[in-house]
Amino acid sequence: MRITKNRITMMRMSDGHLHLRDNYMLKTVLPYSENVIGHALVIGNAPKIRSADDVTRYAVEIANAQSKKTFKPKIAFYITRETTYEDIKHIKAAGAIAGKLFLENQTGQETSTGSESGIYNLKQAYDQCAAMQELDMPLAIHAEDPTVFCLDREDVMVPQVKDLGENFLRLRISVEHITGKSMMNFLEDLPPSSNIRGTITSHHPVLTLDDVIGGRLHPHFFCKPIFKRPSDRDAILNAMLNSGKNRRVSHGSDSAPWRYTDKECKEGCPGMFTAPSAPSVTIELFEKHNMLHNLENFFSKNINETYGFPSDESDTIEFVRKPWKVPRYIPVKGSEWMGIHSDHIVPFMAGQTLEWSLET
Ligand SMILES: [Zn+2]
Repeated sequence: MRITKNRITMMRMSDGHLHLRDNYMLKTVLPYSENVIGHALVIGNAPKIRSADDVTRYAVEIANAQSKKTFKPKIAFYITRETTYEDIKHIKAAGAIAGKLFLENQTGQETSTGSESGIYNLKQAYDQCAAMQELDMPLAIHAEDPTVFCLDREDVMVPQVKDLGENFLRLRISVEHITGKSMMNFLEDLPPSSNIRGTITSHHPVLTLDDVIGGRLHPHFFCKPIFKRPSDRDAILNAMLNSGKNRRVSHGSDSAPWRYTDKECKEGCPGMFTAPSAPSVTIELFEKHNMLHNLENFFSKNINETYGFPSDESDTIEFVRKPWKVPRYIPVKGSEWMGIHSDHIVPFMAGQTLEWSLET
């Protein structure tokens, strides 16, 4: 990595948690990740990736939409209570490299897999975790219990994650988009040999719940896990800035695009399209705190270690100090009618000026 006052040259970034969607949405959002990302773990929740056939089909769809060979997506499939050892073996053979675990709400609220196949606590997935360990596939966990009060959902998962780590010592575990100081402190206190790591987004070290509901409602800042207190944000920020030393956390953008009509409506969807602005926002933070020397660990090295992605020091990208304005709207491809786009995405930091630009 080379850093001068106005130029940063670093290894191509990796993304440990990326939502690319499908169809026209995929074609719209993919270029923003492809520009800067090499290795990416694409989370198979929308569309739902639960079988080897799903993996094959989705990998082809992404490959057909991509234009840069440097982008190397790998898929994380969706684990349910019905997923068997044989399923996972076939899913791995089809090219998926990790599994995503997500707790359901037994009341049916927020249920996305159907109550018969949903997992309500991590122990219910221990058969699947044993299979993942046996097949050497990492496990990415959305560590929130949807049955408890929303600000406490991640905190209550700490004992469950601890228990999981202790029961499956060879299983590589990644706690996704860490949001609160309880989980962050737990991770940072683990011994260096621990099998538990985590990802941090570009938005959780920046915003708090006040940015969403402290004044007027800001639907485009609504995401899961929800933003929490300033002390939680600061714990996340601190861990991210020190990712050269703790090696435990790395970049998972959780870029999750929605059409604005899915955000500005009666039941807005959680998720933010951060791919266009995430790198610049994060670079600004590292610079502001005089920690730019840790940037490469956060953006590529640590996540490559978690998932066994090769680190190619000769494949670099450059950012230059050149202010640019994040677009207010990004039109969704395929939504043109009579030359007018009827649909668009509002990206993270829409309309804001950021300091660092990708040199293309
Ligand atoms: Zn996600």
